[in-house]
Amino acid sequence: MSQILIIYTGGTIGMMSDPVTKVLKPINFEQIMDNVPELEKLNCRIKVHSFEEIIDSSNMNPEIWSQLAGLIESNYDENDGFVILHGSDTMAYTASALSFMLENLEKPIIFTGSQLPISAIRTDAKENLMTAIEIAKAKKNERSRVPEVCIYFDYKLFRGNRAFKYNSSKFEAFRSPNYPILAESGVHLKFNVNDIRQPLDGEKLIIHNNLVSEVAVLKLYPGIGPKVVEAILNADVRGVVMETFGAGNTTTDSWFIDLLEKAIKEGKVIVDISQCKVGTVELGRYETSKQLKDIGVANGYDMTFESAVTKMMYLLGEFDDPAMVKHYMETDLRGEITVS
Ligand code: ASP
Repeated sequence: MSQILIIYTGGTIGMMSDPVTKVLKPINFEQIMDNVPELEKLNCRIKVHSFEEIIDSSNMNPEIWSQLAGLIESNYDENDGFVILHGSDTMAYTASALSFMLENLEKPIIFTGSQLPISAIRTDAKENLMTAIEIAKAKKNERSRVPEVCIYFDYKLFRGNRAFKYNSSKFEAFRSPNYPILAESGVHLKFNVNDIRQPLDGEKLIIHNNLVSEVAVLKLYPGIGPKVVEAILNADVRGVVMETFGAGNTTTDSWFIDLLEKAIKEGKVIVDISQCKVGTVELGRYETSKQLKDIGVANGYDMTFESAVTKMMYLLGEFDDPAMVKHYMETDLRGEITVS
């Protein structure tokens, strides 16, 4: 019989409305289980690890990501898969971070949560939880069907580092426009086998726990001036995620290009991702991105913002040399990027 470890970090799924203030607050895991007696009917053993401090995911941070990675490592051999209950607000960041932190993953790590608490009559939590467990235990020829870090929400399974939260009020909270869904739940659970990554045979799980969060974000807008750009580039960080226009374009004003070039010469890595949610950065396609390529801005192609930030944190922890960080920023490591 398969064994699944459920790790409960918090989120709306396990919240209850305070009778007096009406504010949503986290409850403990036993109260969650009481709401889903169906769990006992699943043909698998379920173990639970509840974090001591149950959080709204807006309080998530790299320290907790390390704890999560450590927990997966120490429970890896005796479990067939993992389901992580997590608030949806920052779920895509945690899923992206863990995808980089867990190398040679052979077992499913399925993040899920819900838009309504599990105790609410119209809750989406039960379906999300039950199917996440089904996916975590699904095997074919003794191998996990989805050996990836994923997000399961509203009948769809996404690659974690390709998804982002796009809707705060619909049950359909996540999207992954630059990569196909990995599975869909309907009458049957349909796995899109050709889009699921398979691990290399015989490689052992490696945990990368040294995330460096010295990352700044430069989001461009027409009219942004030297003071703002300088303040961001002069921040005490080693990496900058730059959100640009369209296919990776920026102003060609010389003050702007000069500031970027100076930051790169000082050893900062700047990666270019687009403000568009669909499509890819094409450095050099337009005059407005040709100079970026020439001065050494890294191409983020079609990476999500969540993926770019957490990948930068991961790479800064792995390498001191900015050239290596830039190189791997532009390389597909966990299926997070389509290098074109
Ligand atoms: N604020 C909640 C959280 O991210 C929202 C949710 O769970 O969906 O923890």
